[in-house]
Amino acid sequence: MMIQLEGVTKVYLAGDNQIRALDAIDLEIDRGEYVAIMGASGSGKSTMMNVLGCLDRPSGGRYLFEGHDVGRMSDDTQAKLRSREFGFVFQSYNMLPRMSAIEQVELPLVYQHRRNRRRLAREALKRVGLADRMHHKPTQLSGGQQQRVAIARALVVNPRVVLADEPTGALDTHTGIEVMEIFTRLVREENITVILVTHEADVAAYADRVVRMRDGHIVEDIRKPEHERVQVQRPAPIAAAVVQASSPASSPSSAEAASA
Ligand code: ADP
Ligand code: MG
Repeated sequence: MMIQLEGVTKVYLAGDNQIRALDAIDLEIDRGEYVAIMGASGSGKSTMMNVLGCLDRPSGGRYLFEGHDVGRMSDDTQAKLRSREFGFVFQSYNMLPRMSAIEQVELPLVYQHRRNRRRLAREALKRVGLADRMHHKPTQLSGGQQQRVAIARALVVNPRVVLADEPTGALDTHTGIEVMEIFTRLVREENITVILVTHEADVAAYADRVVRMRDGHIVEDIRKPEHERVQVQRPAPIAAAVVQASSPASSPSSAEAASA
């Protein structure tokens, strides 16, 4: 099992009040799973993502990643685990205003002192269908394109897990679908584990499993039967305007064309 939470609790102190943002959570997520986390605002979704991504330590319980107890790791070891295994995508694209797409994607490699940064960044941009936008700055890109750059930046270190907290929250429906098609491809073709938070049932419908939270608890955890799982619709992201009629997420044309 890749991810195991055992009785994980996260308590915040707000004045005299204790907020149990996570309250004795048990959760297992395997390699290559495609999970949507849903729940009302304040139910603990972002806290859960922060704990899963080693951005935050639980107050209690155990987090095992590939059998290793994350809670017993030093800050350094935890930071290494985080930067090697996890890619993060947020609602805001967090672009640096003056950098081109390829420079933004190279950044995590700069921090890791890696070689071949340009080549790896170019490959990551290809994975999200933005090979032709490499030298564009954020102001020259649509919101959906910026989010795809952010996904490429998360992918460039070849993480095994992508954590996305409301990745389509700032996008229109059509562009949100493109982002979900990228995630679907990562799961199906690269066996990457994708865990995303969303408020939208349409977005959650792409995932194979929906975990619902309320007041720091998991109140529902449903897996789709194999035959209902969404499959990759197109050979390359946004490459073709051909959309299969049977596609549950069919869209008439690519936003690439619309926003070019
Ligand atoms: P969600 O992402 O589902 O909206 P969060 O995980 O952000 O929920 O928050 C869960 C609860 O924990 C909320 O009551 C929130 O106010 C509280 N909380 C989150 N982060 C902090 C913090 N840094 N300090 C204090 N309380 C927090
Ligand atoms: Mg949140």
